[in-house]
Amino acid sequence: MKSLVLCLHVSLFLIGWRSGLAQVGRSSFEKPDVYEFAETVEYKPRYQHDPKKKRRILNPDFYCSRCAKEGRIAARTRDDLKEKLEIVKTYPMEFQGRTSDRRGLYRLMDHPADYVLNWCADEVRSKNLIYIEDQMFRVVADLAGFSTKKVAYPRREEELIELADIFPRISKKTVQLNSHHHAHLYLIRSHRILRDMSGLIRHDPKAREMAFLGPFFGMKEKFEVYLFRKQRDCGKFVEKFLGHPPSLDGICWHTLSDDSMCAVSHVQLAKRDVDINNLFTHRLSYCMLIGWRGYQYDLPAWFTMGLAHLFERRERTDFNTFLLGEGRRPNLRIPSKWKPYVKKRIAKGNIPPLVQVCKETDVGKIPIGDRMIVWSQVSYLVSLGNEKASRFIQTLKSKKKGENLYNLQVRAFRRAYGLSIPVFEEQWKAWVKATYPSV
Ligand SMILES: [Zn+2]
Repeated sequence: MKSLVLCLHVSLFLIGWRSGLAQVGRSSFEKPDVYEFAETVEYKPRYQHDPKKKRRILNPDFYCSRCAKEGRIAARTRDDLKEKLEIVKTYPMEFQGRTSDRRGLYRLMDHPADYVLNWCADEVRSKNLIYIEDQMFRVVADLAGFSTKKVAYPRREEELIELADIFPRISKKTVQLNSHHHAHLYLIRSHRILRDMSGLIRHDPKAREMAFLGPFFGMKEKFEVYLFRKQRDCGKFVEKFLGHPPSLDGICWHTLSDDSMCAVSHVQLAKRDVDINNLFTHRLSYCMLIGWRGYQYDLPAWFTMGLAHLFERRERTDFNTFLLGEGRRPNLRIPSKWKPYVKKRIAKGNIPPLVQVCKETDVGKIPIGDRMIVWSQVSYLVSLGNEKASRFIQTLKSKKKGENLYNLQVRAFRRAYGLSIPVFEEQWKAWVKATYPSV
């Protein structure tokens, strides 16, 4: 096995009360398994700009601290856009004594947002620190600018077209993006993940099971994304707001009072924009799967991890994020090429049986060398068609009262694929043998 020995990034990754270490590492570039989860829709510009002052957007559907400061949006404070950013969720019948709730309140990390943002301004002390909120996401970013030409990225042109709708000076040919553009890019990318996850799951906001859930993909509050440029700031942040050690690099957190999912990372070791995008895609897709239809119980770790790797590796395959479990130090051997590695493991008969692995909910209990296995298993599962994959995920999110996680998955495999878990595993092995390269 050709391995790269890497120790780039050690962080704690948390969901609810559970924690873990994580790392990122570089591998060789392999052709990604690209699955179309959602229909590609051509972006239609939606912002009207003031004819006399081109930079000013007359109909903003987002608040951005920098846009407000520069007079780019017709709002001075976030509350000037309150009516667009907050919504009233109405229930079909009285629920917990109410027929509706106001959601999308100006909150971050279970606190009033201004309190958190003022703390960040005082502690991070960066001129690049920007807060952006729209109808689904809140992004806190402290990012540098970058050159769009440095690394080829297939989505670059479509992203520039979207950015150009906000910034009239940007075009498909723009080379240099500044920190403000970069922050907006992460709101655009958050929506891309939402689109893909919605397409994969076949999320229907009008479905019966969504009627009493929160309006944000089933969460009561919006998804929060934090991208700190320096580890130090990220560490201080998790210490201040969650009471975790400042040595950490990131956290994925479910806020207990507000019911939001927060993806907190620093990007100090993700040198290129495409690396930051990979790390961000891994974490946010993970949060979205956990948060969809509400965070009510732990999902099987093989599937949540495998899907997060799949989302990340649809972007690029040469930079990978590994989320590890509580108290474990990372095993630093990461295969350079994932497909030949998985194929060799199967040839050696060195595959942990899925009937055992599927019982695990703690991501840390899946060794780092088995991440490629679960990524490949999820990739095969998705390759069998979106309709089946969505049925599988919808079943995983519909645990019956008293049903254990194993029986839930037996039911999900049977309902979606008409297969038992061992038969699925044998079919996956045959698929790998037939389609993966040996070197
Ligand atoms: Zn802005």
